[in-house]
Amino acid sequence: MLSRLRIVLVQTFHPGNIGAAARAMKTMGLTELVLVNPRAFPDDEATRLAAGAADVVENARVVGSLTEAVNDCVQVVGASARLRSLPLPHFEEPDAMAESALDCLQSASNNGQDAPVALVFGRERSGLTTDEIRCCTHQVSIPANPDYGILNLSQAVQILAYELHRAWRSREDSGFVYPTPGETTPPTREQFGHFQRHLHEVMAKSGFLTQPHARTEEQLQALFSRAEPSRKELSLLRGLLSALEPDTPPRDR
Ligand code: SAH
Repeated sequence: MLSRLRIVLVQTFHPGNIGAAARAMKTMGLTELVLVNPRAFPDDEATRLAAGAADVVENARVVGSLTEAVNDCVQVVGASARLRSLPLPHFEEPDAMAESALDCLQSASNNGQDAPVALVFGRERSGLTTDEIRCCTHQVSIPANPDYGILNLSQAVQILAYELHRAWRSREDSGFVYPTPGETTPPTREQFGHFQRHLHEVMAKSGFLTQPHARTEEQLQALFSRAEPSRKELSLLRGLLSALEPDTPPRDR
């Protein structure tokens, strides 16, 4: 679905903004970039600011008019900080735009079409012209400081791309998996029990538990339960306990 979301940049002045927009897109799983009459492209600055998203820049398509960029789309959303008095449906919140864009892609798919949805961004200095807004089916604004609400082009791309990704992620069929750091399989109750006994033995033998009726042991066991160690972390702790009692071979491993 994300592959059918197209970002269109109109007459971008700074090539660095093209690169930064490509990076913003790739971090949110978007890949289709169309450039309408960019001032300088290809350009080293675009590649430099794209960082790991140089492929998005390399695959960008350059066209001669906005009509050409969006003709095959089922929905075209113009991003604009300023509201023009055009009778276009207007999304006041980016998340509403994202839901609508995905609904639109979904209903196109249900009818056997793979037509894209485009988000159109204007020039750094002057934004989109009234004629260009007329090429759109909708407008969206990013609510911001009323005294200074104009974002840098690539940052506007980032925010709207994030909302599209968030809307996609929350759909049941997205298949998105949250990345988990390292090994996080929880230990079995048996493995946890071995650790508790091992801890008990070390505490008892070392003379740490001087007052058997104090709740020291219980409190420490509760601490380790709360920490929810992974299997790997638990075996690390058991290694530590074994090292603290060098004369006794570790048991129940
Ligand atoms: N000076 C221009 C703004 C250019 S910023 C103007 O007054 O229109 C470049 C582009 O970033 C804009 O054309 C728009 O597509 C996007 N953008 C910047 N701030 C935005 C905001 N608050 N909401 C929606 N789009 C925004």
